[in-house]
Amino acid sequence: MSAEIICVGTELLLGEILNSNAQFLAQELANLGIPHYYQTVVGDNPDRIKGVIATAQYRGSRILIFTGGLGPTPDDLTTETIADFFQTPLLEDPETIANITQKFAQNNRVMAANNRKQALIPQGAKILPNPTGTAPGIIWQVADLTILTFPGVPSEMIRMWQETAVPFLKSQGWGKEIIYSRTLRFWGIGESNLAEKVSKYFDLTQPTVAPYAGNGEVRLRVSARSDSPAKALEIITPVAIELQKIAGLDYFGADEATLASTVGEILLSRGETLAVAESCTGGTLGQMLTAVAGSSSYFMGGVISYDNTVKINLLGVNPKTLDRLGAVSDKVAKQMARGVRKQLKTTWGLSITGIAGPGGGSADKPVGLVYIGLSGTDGTKLVWKYTFGEHRSREGIRHLSACNALDQLRRYLLSK
Ligand code: ATP
Repeated sequence: MSAEIICVGTELLLGEILNSNAQFLAQELANLGIPHYYQTVVGDNPDRIKGVIATAQYRGSRILIFTGGLGPTPDDLTTETIADFFQTPLLEDPETIANITQKFAQNNRVMAANNRKQALIPQGAKILPNPTGTAPGIIWQVADLTILTFPGVPSEMIRMWQETAVPFLKSQGWGKEIIYSRTLRFWGIGESNLAEKVSKYFDLTQPTVAPYAGNGEVRLRVSARSDSPAKALEIITPVAIELQKIAGLDYFGADEATLASTVGEILLSRGETLAVAESCTGGTLGQMLTAVAGSSSYFMGGVISYDNTVKINLLGVNPKTLDRLGAVSDKVAKQMARGVRKQLKTTWGLSITGIAGPGGGSADKPVGLVYIGLSGTDGTKLVWKYTFGEHRSREGIRHLSACNALDQLRRYLLSK
């Protein structure tokens, strides 16, 4: 009982637009618990579109969801090609003609002759109304298949999907089961290391566990199939707890949690405050912290001490240290953290100084060298050195620096 998504449009094949319709529909099918194994992008070409339908039939797919190619121009061929495939005549739908005429009149425009084409639907198909655009889709149960068509314009497609297609699919008995997922998030461990630690969980079928990685973070998606989120969660939770235990401190949160929100929760629970001093990250760390609603309860602010004069004048970094060791050094990181903590009168001061590149590196201080400093009112004076590698982009180094600063603070607070 699986579905296929078929997106029609030569502009998709040319890479001119991102196939966001397929992403939306794929997520929706997963939420509805409708299995979906294939997606196709095909140009505005009748023979190839027919080939896609034949292939889907051969695969035993039962629901075909088309987007695109419902417009009035000659290259919009989806409906007529589908009708032709099943050797079914197209009939003009009077209600659709009336709707299109009315929509044009509302905009003080006269309906062009080629818009009549949008009211042609295969005999036996039902209209899938389009409340915002001119082209309706169809719902057609033909030859063991259920075919749904949508315009390419995402906003029109989404509304039609939500208002008509989902209730229709549910009324057919599809979508009774949902797939519900929780995403467990990890920092400070590589994907292959984590995968090795939890490998036996990848064989589970209910719930399933799948790893994803990107931007320094690793995620495990734990998904269960059930008829309600609450029941799915009962299946997911024991496994999620085991996975968290195995990962220990490398696990930092689930779903929408970020390193910054996790640090925020810990600071809040301890009644402590934080200030940051940033050099190469230029505010990235402050941005991450303030992206969390309610962060003003624990985050006081920061200093972007990009130039040495700012490090000296606002943070009290010793000019001699700067002369002797340079701005990218462990001592300067410590002094920046201490300086911002004192200036902003917080419990913790967190600092970053490094070389984000692409220029500015040297043999002993290559691009990607970053120091993170932490200073606390309890006398904590710590520094961590990272060498992210010269192959990384400036943005990548800045992102990793800010995330690792948050991660080090998180680990330190949890270990105390
Ligand atoms: P129209 O009546 O506007 O011609 P249509 O059904 O013929 O609608 P297309 O012409 O295929 O749709 O696409 C219209 C616009 O919708 C495209 O220019 C593009 O911006 C967007 N679009 C089409 N397909 C997709 C897709 N798969 N993902 C995201 N956007 C899309």
